[in-house]
Amino acid sequence: ASTVKIGLIPADGIGREVIPAARRVLESLNSGPKFEFVDLEAGFELFQKTGTSLPQETIDILKNECNGALFGAVSSPSHKVAGYSSPIVALRKHLDLYANVRPVKSVNSPAFPNQKLLDMLIIRENTECLYIKSEREEVDSKTGLRVAWADRKISEYASRRIGTMAFNMALTRQKLRSEIPVEKRFWQHNPRVTIVHKSNVLSVTDGLWRETVRAVKENNAELYKGVDMEEQLVDSMVYRMFREPEAFDVVVAPNLYGDIISDGAAALVGSLGVVPSANVGDSFVMGEPVHGSAPDIAGKGIANPIASIRSAGMLLEHMGYTSQALKIYNAVDAVMADASILTPDLGGKSSTTEVTEAVLKNLRT
Ligand code: NAD
Ligand code: MN
Repeated sequence: ASTVKIGLIPADGIGREVIPAARRVLESLNSGPKFEFVDLEAGFELFQKTGTSLPQETIDILKNECNGALFGAVSSPSHKVAGYSSPIVALRKHLDLYANVRPVKSVNSPAFPNQKLLDMLIIRENTECLYIKSEREEVDSKTGLRVAWADRKISEYASRRIGTMAFNMALTRQKLRSEIPVEKRFWQHNPRVTIVHKSNVLSVTDGLWRETVRAVKENNAELYKGVDMEEQLVDSMVYRMFREPEAFDVVVAPNLYGDIISDGAAALVGSLGVVPSANVGDSFVMGEPVHGSAPDIAGKGIANPIASIRSAGMLLEHMGYTSQALKIYNAVDAVMADASILTPDLGGKSSTTEVTEAVLKNLRT
């Protein structure tokens, strides 16, 4: 079998509890590639100890030696700390991981009787928008009070490549779905791409975004003729997502909107602790749970490992090991559907280790 080298960057808080769980799941697979793991440092705690949140060594090893990575979470403070910047934002940039792919799917289970059934894929642009962090402050000469400014970047280049990924993923999902019996599919329509924007107000930036993503379909009419395209203003997107989440298939959004709507979507499937993501570039993938470092529960052994375990699955999926990825997804779904072993965020009483072991047991059967 081929060997795949994975960089593990648990970073802060519950990242240190859930990334080891994901590693155990990868190690237990009995088919697919042989894994070699390398432990790498990053994070706010590392910054407090050493003055750097992302050592050059971590970047170099990822770039020169690894085929992929798993990232935990960082505890970025909400106030400005001199010399500190978020390592995850920097890593996405260094590795040109231009798409953040976030599947949000409900699992049918007696534990969540009132849950709406949904199966959406949020594709968040990962390199620009307000996250270019071009901010400054000045004093207003009239009032003598401070004014803060931020630049927002939307490029045709980045919008086109993320739009292309959205339409391609819509086709891929349709293909995978066709293998599931019709009555078991949550999604019964043509594949659909929903473009999120606010170009009724921001007609230049979001206007360019909207036009560019629309043009991906219009310029490839034959290829994407089976994919429906719709648009949703970001505020009413949130409203509709809570009212009728089953109306969404692939959702493509600029960086900030995508960040916000994906945490909202996580509330619809029970917990942030179950939603995975993959940071995807043309030659590198980094799996990463959507949640943060959860300081309120860190160190207690009760963090839900499912988001990270599914992120390990996404890492495999985007490296081309589809059948191994499916095994992981199915094992997780079975544990959630059974509902006897769940962490407290999902209403259970079990620990991180117990949930991980339930997934491992399911993988073996
Ligand atoms: P959070 O995602 O850390 O936590 C929000 C809530 O969800 C908390 O109540 C937490 O206990 C719960 N939760 C999250 N993941 C869980 C899991 N796996 N199992 C059980 N419960 C879980 O968001 P926050 O509290 O707004 O941010 C905390 C820190 O995380 C901040 O410093 C923030 O900067 C950082 N953060 C980092 C990332 C990242 O590394 N990509 C993303 C978001 C937030
Ligand atoms: Mn976020």
